[in-house]
Amino acid sequence: MLDMKWIRDHADDVQKAAVNKGMALQVDDLLWLDRERRELQVNIEELRAARNTLSNAIAELVKEQRYEEANRIKDEVRERNGQLALLEPRLRIARQAFDELYALVPNMISPDTPVGKSDRDNVEVKRVGEAPSFPFAARDHIQLGELHGLIDTQRGVKVSGSRFYYLKGTGVLLHRAVQALALDVLLQQGFTPLDVPLMVRPEAMRNTGFFPLGQDQTYRLADSDHYLIGTSEVSLISYYGNEVVEVDEPIKLAAASMCFRSEVGSAGRDVHGLYRVHQFAKVEQVVICRGDTAHSDALLEEITGHAETLLQRLELPYRRMAVCTGDMSQKTYKQYDLETWMPSRGEYGETHSSSNLHEFQARRSNIRYRDESGELRFCHTLNNTAVASPRILIPLLENHQQEDGSITIPAALQPYMNGMKVLEPSA
Ligand code: AMP
Repeated sequence: MLDMKWIRDHADDVQKAAVNKGMALQVDDLLWLDRERRELQVNIEELRAARNTLSNAIAELVKEQRYEEANRIKDEVRERNGQLALLEPRLRIARQAFDELYALVPNMISPDTPVGKSDRDNVEVKRVGEAPSFPFAARDHIQLGELHGLIDTQRGVKVSGSRFYYLKGTGVLLHRAVQALALDVLLQQGFTPLDVPLMVRPEAMRNTGFFPLGQDQTYRLADSDHYLIGTSEVSLISYYGNEVVEVDEPIKLAAASMCFRSEVGSAGRDVHGLYRVHQFAKVEQVVICRGDTAHSDALLEEITGHAETLLQRLELPYRRMAVCTGDMSQKTYKQYDLETWMPSRGEYGETHSSSNLHEFQARRSNIRYRDESGELRFCHTLNNTAVASPRILIPLLENHQQEDGSITIPAALQPYMNGMKVLEPSA
């Protein structure tokens, strides 16, 4: 959310951000509703004040037994009441329309973000590691999963429908191992781990910028006002909602949680294997810091670096992309994606998404701190994946496969896999 006063003074900039993000918002409509609700408010306050003055006058006149004059003024009060009865509902409607439109205003975009329409316009910043070229017919992760008895998508679909899966045996160990390694990487960087609510109230979704846009991505629990989180970012940021926090040092939070997404709008996309599923596990990093753009931008580099460390420790080839305006969400100020090489797709696939949200979430969630002069200011917030599984199992299994179907386990993962160095295909 942006400050409304700021929007009034920078309407053209806000409109440009909306256009660059591919959003239909007309800032002029917002400004009109803003004026309308403020003018109505002033009119109503004036009428109420006049009515109070008249009512006091009536009381005085009645005390003095000047009933005729009192009756005349009563007519005037009735007239004011009539006017108020017309204006008050108009104000309610104008306020509601304003609130709905205000909730759609995009965050501003960092000046170094590439302008573009979709992920095709994202810009590669760097590439690390070499994509392997296999001198044999390489298997995809589903074939490897079946060979090793790690993944069962058929029974996932049988039980729950498309985009569901079972992990089995060593598949479960791998799924847990990547999360344990990711959490340890974050603990070494001073993150505080939290185990978070997976069900939240709609305010938490709104305050973190996932509602109203994105509401269709979310599962609502029947007969309840709770929604299943699509990312623990919602629970982690909301932890400090409506609080004044201490950010001399940035607050660094981590959570390992399940995430649930309807994937509405993805029909027919990424239907093979474990790439796009309805529930997955994610270790997330969230940072809350001072409202200083240079500071939060430096922290964006830092948390992106943590994800890169993880990918390097998993010995996976990846690239860092500067995400363009059209591929960003409403709330994002600046974003990098990390894409990891996925041999079966013959391309890099997104495995991590790292964002600076600037003041947007903190303003909606009302998370503030006191600056050096004691003034209350909104924080900046950031988030990034540390690891998301099972998607990360795609490059992990596929890049480390050998001709005989065995899979080598990266050294950094072995301590989390009971020392296992190689997965041999089950006989
Ligand atoms: P996001 O929170 O949307 O930025 O996503 C962060 C990471 O979660 C992505 O880079 C993926 O690794 C993973 N992810 C997101 N959506 C899905 C999904 N539907 N299925 C599997 N993994 C997902």
